[in-house]
Parts: sequence; C-alpha cells; structure tokens
Amino acid sequence: MSFEPYGERAVNTAVALVNSLVLSDGIDGLPDLDACAELLGEHGWIVDDLTSADLKFLRALRPRLRFAFEAQDERKVVAHLNRLLSECEVLPQLTDHDGAWHFHYARPGATLAQRVFVTSLMALLLVVRDRGSDRLRICATDGCANALFDTTKNHSRRFCDARTCANRAHTAAYRRRQRVKAIASDG
Ligand SMILES: [Zn+2]
Ligand SMILES: [Zn+2]
Repeated sequence: MSFEPYGERAVNTAVALVNSLVLSDGIDGLPDLDACAELLGEHGWIVDDLTSADLKFLRALRPRLRFAFEAQDERKVVAHLNRLLSECEVLPQLTDHDGAWHFHYARPGATLAQRVFVTSLMALLLVVRDRGSDRLRICATDGCANALFDTTKNHSRRFCDARTCANRAHTAAYRRRQRVKAIASDG
C-alpha cells in the first residue's frame, strides 16, 4: 500500500485534534498555545513557529475534521474532505529532506496550521482510498464521543484510547481469547 511515511502520524494528529474538542469532563483540550504545542509535538510536528493565529485556526478546524469520523456514508466523507482541501493552499512537492522521499502538500512557507490542515486532509483521504472510510469512526463506548482510527488487520477496533475505553478494549480482547480457547477445546 502506498501510504505516505507521515500518513499515520497525520491521521493521528487529526484524531487528537478532534478529540480535544470536548473531553468527557466537558473541558476543552486545546485551551491555549501550550496545549496546542504539546498536542502537535506529541505527533511529531516541529512547533517552533506556532502562533496564536494557528491555534485559532486549528480550534475552528476541529468540528469540520470530526465530520469525517461521524459520517457513515463514504461519498459524503470524500465530498467533505475534498471541499476542505479546496480551501487549502496546496502545492505538492516531493522532498527527501529527512532521508526518504515523501510529499509535502502545503505550499512552501505555509503556516504551521495550514501544513497540519493540508497534511491531515491528504492522510484522511488516503485512508479512505486505501482502507475505506469506515476505518475512521467514533468510539463505541456509551457516552464517549472520541474519534478513532482503526488500523487493525481484522477491522476490530471499537474503542478509543481514553483510559476507561482502553480498559473496555482489553476486556473485550480477553473475552474474545477465552471464546477462541473454548471453541478450540470443544474441537
Ligand atoms: Zn517532510
Ligand atoms: Zn472512547
């Protein structure tokens, strides 16, 4: 599969941005520049030139990215992401500045927020192209509205990374293993 080297990182950036919108305790996870620098830094972005304009842009972007995880209809997801992409300052350029050929999609000199925007959109569109839009979903836990990116082979991820939800995921995996054992010993 021709996934970009930065693809998964960029999808995870989008997931983290969406999930900062409203945390389960009702507090916004992207209140200020420090929080924004931390979130982007965790996903490999160099944040030296992060500005308050970037913060404002990324905060406003979150509900628009969220749609890609909420919508069930693949054509709607693609139309939405394509529409967002048409707002971007895109100029694809192949580069090997870090040793491996990869595309930079934002025009040279674009702001950090623009680069995050363009790169996330391209990564989300590549997920749809290569894996299908149902890889982008909302967590199955009642009362959890977090987005998730399902990279499992068998399409089995149902819960996000929040602590309570991750525990459920462990329990579900344990039950699955027990079931497989029971079936195996039946035979
Ligand atoms: Zn690069
Ligand atoms: Zn969750």
